[in-house]
Amino acid sequence: MQVHIGLKFENWGLTVTNTPAFTFVPTTIYGLQNLILWARDNNKRVRAAGHRHSWTSLFSEDNEVFVSMLDLKTATNVPDPSSILPDKVSNLANEFKTIQLQTTSQADRKSLVRIGAATTNEELRRWSVRGNAWALALNTIIVEYVLISS
Ligand SMILES: Cc1cc2nc3c(=O)[nH]c(=O)nc-3n(C[C@H](O)[C@H](O)[C@H](O)COP(=O)(O)OP(=O)(O)OC[C@H]3O[C@@H](n4cnc5c(N)ncnc54)[C@H](O)[C@@H]3O)c2cc1C
Repeated sequence: MQVHIGLKFENWGLTVTNTPAFTFVPTTIYGLQNLILWARDNNKRVRAAGHRHSWTSLFSEDNEVFVSMLDLKTATNVPDPSSILPDKVSNLANEFKTIQLQTTSQADRKSLVRIGAATTNEELRRWSVRGNAWALALNTIIVEYVLISS
């Protein structure tokens, strides 16, 4: 897992700034599970973020553990150009960038969908267009955020 030591964190609006002890960028569930166990044993608090667009102070803190669900270039580039670039090949190996149909009901034309915590709204939009079958009934305009935070 990629890790950065003592890297400064800023949210999009520059209203939240801190310096976590470690910034991790996980791509496997097993890796993240191990990180959580390590943090528990070392009395560290773990907080995650996606595109860092929100203004909440509920991001990480000084000397704690920060988990960036997006690679740092994607998370910190302003403006983020990912909506006009092709899909990243590295997404295929990222276990947090998954969209899986669970149960579907033809009667009311709805489906339960399991979405990975690093999946962006742009990636969901592309998945919808590719499959031409499922979309969110109501969605926001902005595509640069991870769906877990919406
Ligand atoms: C320029 C701009 C335009 C915007 N336009 C819109 C709009 O049109 N419509 C709209 O609805 N909103 C809009 N917003 C608000 C923003 O996009 C939403 O708040 C969005 O949900 C933020 O997503 P994010 O990926 O940046 O989340 P973040 O800000 O990175 O995270 C949000 C919160 O969730 C927590 N979190 C994130 N990931 C995880 C995880 N995996 N596990 C546990 N906790 C997690 C973080 O700690 C944080 O507290 C806009 C914001 C900006 C800056």
